[in-house]
Amino acid sequence: MLDDVRAAIRDVPDFPKPGIVFKDITPVLSDGRLFRKVIDALVERWRDEGISKVVGIESRGFCFAAPLSYALGIGLTIVRKPGKLPWRTIREAYALEYGENVLELHEDALQPGERVLVVDDVLATGGTADAVGRLVERQGAQIVAYAFLAELRFLGGASRLGADRVHALVRY
Ligand code: AMP
Repeated sequence: MLDDVRAAIRDVPDFPKPGIVFKDITPVLSDGRLFRKVIDALVERWRDEGISKVVGIESRGFCFAAPLSYALGIGLTIVRKPGKLPWRTIREAYALEYGENVLELHEDALQPGERVLVVDDVLATGGTADAVGRLVERQGAQIVAYAFLAELRFLGGASRLGADRVHALVRY
């Protein structure tokens, strides 16, 4: 059903560095029919799950998290790279292949007991989404699931996050 979305996602070899095959989702964004199809599929999947907040991961995650939260009629919270959020923040660091990254969330972004859906474009190793999960849980909120446009299964991210909580529209 989403074969046309899968076909539109473009492989870019050796970006951002040699050996990485980057999944470029911009052709999906720029095709109004495909973009709507993706958002409709997310809405269909999550509308009856009692989600109270969508958490979008900077930056491509915002492209999917924002229309989804709008369509569900619930709030959007954004996780950002360090130094971007203006209010007081909590932060989590996570390891990359070389070095580490940090992500931040406003300290009052979520209420205890909230039911959260974490949204990003691509699941690779799961390190990014896992760090976001820790930020969410530090605020006493509950992760209902992690939703992605695409999952790179061979990198094992789903087992890191808990496979039953991972949902992707297309898989590689
Ligand atoms: P990871 O933490 O390894 O799961 O990486 C996930 C984050 O990095 C997401 O925000 C993705 O946008 C990005 N990412 C990692 N690998 C790729 C890839 N091969 N193609 C596109 N985006 C990727």
